[in-house]
Amino acid sequence: MTRLTLSHLLLPFLGGTTAGYTTLSDDTLRHISSPLSASSPSELDPFDGSLLSPILIPRVPGTPGHAAVQAHFINYIKSNLSPEWTIEWHNSTSKTPATGEKLVPFQNLIIRRDPPGMTREREGEMERLTLAAHYDSLYRPEGFIGAVDSAVPCAVLLWVLKELDGAMGKRWGEWEDDGLERGKGVQVVLFDGEEAWVQWSGEDSLYGSSSRLDTISLFVLLDLLGAADPTVPSFFGKTHWAYQNMAKVEERLRGLKLLESEPKAGRFLHDSERSNWNFAGYVEDDHVPFLRRGVEDILHIIPTPFPRVWHTMDDDVKNLDVATVKDWAKIVAGFVGEWMDLEGHFEGVVPGTEDEKGRYFVKDEL
Ligand SMILES: [Zn+2]
Repeated sequence: MTRLTLSHLLLPFLGGTTAGYTTLSDDTLRHISSPLSASSPSELDPFDGSLLSPILIPRVPGTPGHAAVQAHFINYIKSNLSPEWTIEWHNSTSKTPATGEKLVPFQNLIIRRDPPGMTREREGEMERLTLAAHYDSLYRPEGFIGAVDSAVPCAVLLWVLKELDGAMGKRWGEWEDDGLERGKGVQVVLFDGEEAWVQWSGEDSLYGSSSRLDTISLFVLLDLLGAADPTVPSFFGKTHWAYQNMAKVEERLRGLKLLESEPKAGRFLHDSERSNWNFAGYVEDDHVPFLRRGVEDILHIIPTPFPRVWHTMDDDVKNLDVATVKDWAKIVAGFVGEWMDLEGHFEGVVPGTEDEKGRYFVKDEL
């Protein structure tokens, strides 16, 4: 779907609460994204083979490529995340423009980690940062890959979970559940059927009940990421504070020379100064059904204008900018780390030193 809509959607500007949002220190930011680390960022290399590249195939619902990508997700999660993560499939069926009367199955994948002791009965005491992207690909033109739409966003989200998994475990190992603090969980929702223009029906079961929607503290939707020079506006006054926090993470990472891309605009998230929310345009996307169901805290990370390759055969591996892909991963990891209050919970963060070129060494890499 993902089409531009100019609307008069006037969400009440209530501002947001910054309670519990903890800035990460420079040393922690360096640790997340150490350019000298041989570890995870290479998984986002489209040719590396371990995370992103297996997604870079046609993934039309009901086809073998789609099933292969689903299997890859599960394999990646099981081999890289701790057992505290739960995996849920939410199944539905729908007719699509491609299949006429034939019903096609759709499977949304939810990967979730809640604080210890938070059972289904205690969901009301919890809030979940919800990170989303769609994993299916457009059925036409035939052979369409959808590298930015949305293979890269899916890979970025899985990478972020892996990157922060240890720190989350450490934080919750020390967490005192005194019943006063609302437990913060996190979940990644990988949507299916986005490109088939599926209508959300009353019966489908993405969350099963509205109480599960109530647990969403912020819905962050990534789309069309991975091409060079993205410019991402702030779309909603209500979540502008969250946008500003993510923009701040980008600015600090750039200041610390931890990002590799050199966007023409100097940065991806350029809209922190925005203050006028009248007649706001927004981009119709997977978040709209949530919006209609009362999830108002939405942060939509989508470049506008869309990348040149959008919905063409050129949306493939050769038009990805690897530096931009990696930088998105680092920015999102930093933002999620701050949202989840992970400062002080990363293993091995020790004050480092810079060499003569300004590169940064953490002690154990010397
Ligand atoms: Zn699309």
